[in-house]
Amino acid sequence: MATASEPTPVDAPMPVDPVPDLVPARMLNEFAYCPRLAYLEWVQGEFADSVDTVEGRFQHRRVDQPSGELPEALPDGAEAATDGEAPGRIHARSVTLSDESLGAIARIDLVEGRGSEVTPVDYKHGKAPDVPGGAWEPERVQLCLQGLLLRANGYACTEGMLYFVESRERVGIPFDDALVARTIELLQDLRRVAAAGQIPPPLVDSPKCPRCSLVGICLPDEVNLLSAPDQPINRDDLRRLVPSRDDALPLYVQTQGAVVGKSGDLLEIKLKGAVLQKARLMDVSHLAVYGNVQVTSQALRELCARNIPVCYFSYGGWFQGITSGMAHKNVELRCRQYAVAMVPDASLPIARRMIFGKIKNCRTLLRRNHKEPPPAVLAELDRLAGHALTAGSAETLLGIEGAAARCYFSELQGMLKDDSLVFDFQGRNRRPPRDLVNALLSFIYSMLIKQAMVTALAVGFDPYLGFYHQPKYGKPALALDLAEEFRPIVADSVCIGLINNGEIGREHVISRGGMVALTQNGRRKVIEAYERRVDTTITHPMFGYAVSYRRIMEIQARLLARHLLGEVRAYPVFRTR
Ligand code: SF4
Repeated sequence: MATASEPTPVDAPMPVDPVPDLVPARMLNEFAYCPRLAYLEWVQGEFADSVDTVEGRFQHRRVDQPSGELPEALPDGAEAATDGEAPGRIHARSVTLSDESLGAIARIDLVEGRGSEVTPVDYKHGKAPDVPGGAWEPERVQLCLQGLLLRANGYACTEGMLYFVESRERVGIPFDDALVARTIELLQDLRRVAAAGQIPPPLVDSPKCPRCSLVGICLPDEVNLLSAPDQPINRDDLRRLVPSRDDALPLYVQTQGAVVGKSGDLLEIKLKGAVLQKARLMDVSHLAVYGNVQVTSQALRELCARNIPVCYFSYGGWFQGITSGMAHKNVELRCRQYAVAMVPDASLPIARRMIFGKIKNCRTLLRRNHKEPPPAVLAELDRLAGHALTAGSAETLLGIEGAAARCYFSELQGMLKDDSLVFDFQGRNRRPPRDLVNALLSFIYSMLIKQAMVTALAVGFDPYLGFYHQPKYGKPALALDLAEEFRPIVADSVCIGLINNGEIGREHVISRGGMVALTQNGRRKVIEAYERRVDTTITHPMFGYAVSYRRIMEIQARLLARHLLGEVRAYPVFRTR
């Protein structure tokens, strides 16, 4: 039987050809900067904006507009018919060239020259660096590849030009033998690394990482620590390279009859023609609509284009569906996910750790919040957590999790200040909830699963295929898996806080035929409390930096991906102490 310390057998051969046909010159720049960055972008289809990429795009907006013409190169030795005049001047913007034998493609910002003698000009944001050669290697090899593509298309090209927008400087880069050889060498290395289907390791303690747009996806320091299991984790060495909180936040709309539309770069929420609220699209991480709320097709298209998911809930808070843009390009990750999820011996170690973490976090919540934490219950949760780590089958694990849930929920009442509140912990009544606590838990769990679903999609997973929850039509099994560790520490904690702080009470529910549901005002209070909780920063128990629960959920999903792709030995479950 496999134990928790054994690696998940995820090293099955990749069934996808990871090497696209032509290497974009920009990718050679990334590869020279960091091989892992090129792999993440080119093979795994990752992309994220940083200050540099946004600035670069803004500064590139003029050169990206095609203008002028690049005349066909003349055959060797041929001379242009110029009637004795000098050959015409070439000034062509945004020129795309490729060559099969080089195996590369480039969009060149500007091609200047006369006749068949041309110079590629590459625009760079920022200032010209004060370094030997006039520019860093990534920029020089990218430019040189553009020059080689021009040569391969019949032009004479002996040097290129880098134009630094901020300092308005032109720096000439001669395409000497050494630079050409280095460019070809890197081109071959990039193809070889991509063909191997094995992501290069993160750079170690590199000053390049803080400026890297993919640092939040790559998680260099975290992966380096977790991929060296024999090294004790030194939290002090770990840099927090991602913001502790997200800038973009969810937008909730629960006013019945409201319409969410788009006006320029804004989302506009209207009721009977009157504007209730506006939100900048760039500030919205996802849109959550409850009940009878419409989203216009213009708004939906824009949200899809920006990869901002729309989550649909019933009026009562049941999570019913999601609209998102094109699926994430990381087919390599999804192949691994399917391969592991379909093999019980491979998925069980992940499921074990998830349930271990959940039970431990239940225990922590009881210890922190119970009026008199019962030692026998804490000991039993410890025992069950230990058993979860060595469960021999998914069915055994399910039984352990059920026993732990009964044990934990039997003491949930002890965490509430109001003893008069009825909480039926026997099996947690859900459909429909029959008391305030169960109504709150159901509503909050829906929000947590929505969060896990949005995160799973953003990372590139299929949210319907999990490792603990079994596949079932319409069940977001992976989102449910990802939510497990956070149920006690986020969702249950919100429920307990709302009741104990007096923010919610019987006036916020309506009872009908034994069913208990939250009023609109009650739902608003729960949403606010949930958002406060996931925005709360804590010291990460493993990495030692301050980070919000929302970010931690994303980090967990990314570490799961790193584990499936073979970089992190065991799934590092999130546990609070
Ligand atoms: S964060 Fe660092 S290691 Fe990761 S891709 Fe960027 S530069 Fe490379």
